[in-house]
Amino acid sequence: MSRHATRVLPLLLTAVLGLTPQLVQAFAFDTVVGPVVLQHQTAGSPVVWEAPRVTMHLNLGSPPNGAPLANGTTSWDTNAAEALALWNTVVPHFFTFDTTAHNPCDPGDGFNTVGFTPDHCGDGFGDVIAVTRKTYGQQAGRFVVTQADVVLNAQLCWDAYAGPLELCQGTLGYAIDLQRVVLHELGHVLGLEHPDEAGQSVAALMNRYISDLDTLTPDDRLGAAFLYPQPSLAASAASAAPDSRGGGGGGGCTLRPGSDVDPTLGAVLLGLAVVCLWKRPPCSGKPSEGCAALPRVPRIHD
Ligand SMILES: [Zn+2]
Repeated sequence: MSRHATRVLPLLLTAVLGLTPQLVQAFAFDTVVGPVVLQHQTAGSPVVWEAPRVTMHLNLGSPPNGAPLANGTTSWDTNAAEALALWNTVVPHFFTFDTTAHNPCDPGDGFNTVGFTPDHCGDGFGDVIAVTRKTYGQQAGRFVVTQADVVLNAQLCWDAYAGPLELCQGTLGYAIDLQRVVLHELGHVLGLEHPDEAGQSVAALMNRYISDLDTLTPDDRLGAAFLYPQPSLAASAASAAPDSRGGGGGGGCTLRPGSDVDPTLGAVLLGLAVVCLWKRPPCSGKPSEGCAALPRVPRIHD
């Protein structure tokens, strides 16, 4: 390839992809170009739910021994519901929930389910903490999210608490705060991605690494408000059908062509299962940062 062609190619690709070269905000989201969903984008049209009304089916239950969690609650679902409610303060009435049982590994059942699973739907979790699996479809000529399921790695030490990450009692690992993890994954359900993977440097729960941050930041809120602006909320509220089943969202790090998408979803012309991964930042190795004392924590593979 000539030097001229090499220099021109990125511009051509930008034109072909329909993307503007400048960044328009810090938060990130999915866009679609042809049959491909591009993750961690900061420009272009985001892929969101057709209607901003999504029912999540919380199948997390309660700890088997009945002992209270660190924050005094006794139910995982209660903590997940808190995460849903917090996003609803940004996009009013977006999430509703019930606790009916469904399979979070079925991408075509039309139910958006949150549950613990012993593995990643047949594959190994590895160091993965949680995964959001999204299915996309095409309705009225545009791509939308049609289903989203969240699976939490049941092999980890889970708890519920605010503040800095804490150690899991009796182990060398961290206790994973369920509420902040579900809050992050629900951001993917809304349609947000990792701003740091889009080249941004912002304080955000939606960054790719789990951290001491336990709640939404202004950047997270701006992102959700951008995906679901209030005027469209009003319009959707006036016209949306009462049954929002079939909606869903998620986030991700890798894309898999939708071979496992249920073909009976008539409106779905294209489905993609999106896997989202969340991990702790790598240690720099500097003793001053306490690296030697850091216990091993679950990671997400890139
Ligand atoms: Zn994520």
